Amino acid sequence: MTHIHNPYDKQGIWLRGSFHNHTTCSDGHHPLSTVYRMYHDYDFLGISDHDRITVHEGEHTIGTLFEAVEVSSSQTHMLLVHPPSTLMEGYSNEFSIANYQRLSDACVENGGLSILAHPNRFFSHYWRHEDMLSMQRYNGIEVVNGDGNPEYDIAFDKWDYLLSAGRKIWGFGNDDFHVYGQEKRAWNMVLAKEKTNEAILAAIREGSFYVSTGYGFDGIRVEEGQIIYDLRSSPLYDKMYKYVTLIGKEGRILHEETGRMKQVKYAYDGDEGYIRIAVYLEGGFGAFSQPLFVE
Ligand SMILES: [Zn+2]
Ligand SMILES: [Zn+2]
Repeated sequence: MTHIHNPYDKQGIWLRGSFHNHTTCSDGHHPLSTVYRMYHDYDFLGISDHDRITVHEGEHTIGTLFEAVEVSSSQTHMLLVHPPSTLMEGYSNEFSIANYQRLSDACVENGGLSILAHPNRFFSHYWRHEDMLSMQRYNGIEVVNGDGNPEYDIAFDKWDYLLSAGRKIWGFGNDDFHVYGQEKRAWNMVLAKEKTNEAILAAIREGSFYVSTGYGFDGIRVEEGQIIYDLRSSPLYDKMYKYVTLIGKEGRILHEETGRMKQVKYAYDGDEGYIRIAVYLEGGFGAFSQPLFVE
């Protein structure tokens, strides 16, 4: 009997935020107070300077703030959200699986998140396939990173690679904000029980979020052998073209559709491995669900 694990099948509120952003405490161009103002309407925000935990202080209107650190060896970067303060004792950013795994484990054991950052930034800091497989127990990878250009800061290929290898890995969207103009390019929409750090982290661990670059979902349901995707609807959106792709194991295209639709239905076979959806709205604004695992 086929079972679809649907992480969106729950009550909650949708919250918008990004976990990966820099300030003048590392190589960001703007101080913390300016970054707070730029993201004043976000529900949550993480500050992740390179190799240091920047402490939140001063006035802000953002509901929920996260401390984070970007572990920044010369080879790969790893984003740790809600790390323990003891992480920096004896800290080294040296890239070895043992060192990165130790830091990742410490963060996950603290209730935080471990995310492999910009896996395809091949001109500088990227993740090799074998290293992504050698790492264990991390929560996900950045599938959209807003810092660079789409040719190298998009990593859907590596996501499908890990998912097809049997990993339960979530996809994240973050700005990796450094300088004015990079804000609000990519974010996460989280279906959380309430607007608290704990509820957001719990929802993320369960995969109850999707990545947005400007579009979204009103809901994702499983009913009578079908997955029903309610695309974000409004009088304006309903007049616009969408392009939808459903993707399964090994990156197989399961379904493709275009039109001014508000809903997409997919009758599953049970052999997909996982099913994830990518939706683009006219203008290129996207929404990317987590995989629904087929069991
Ligand atoms: Zn980085
Ligand atoms: Zn960064």
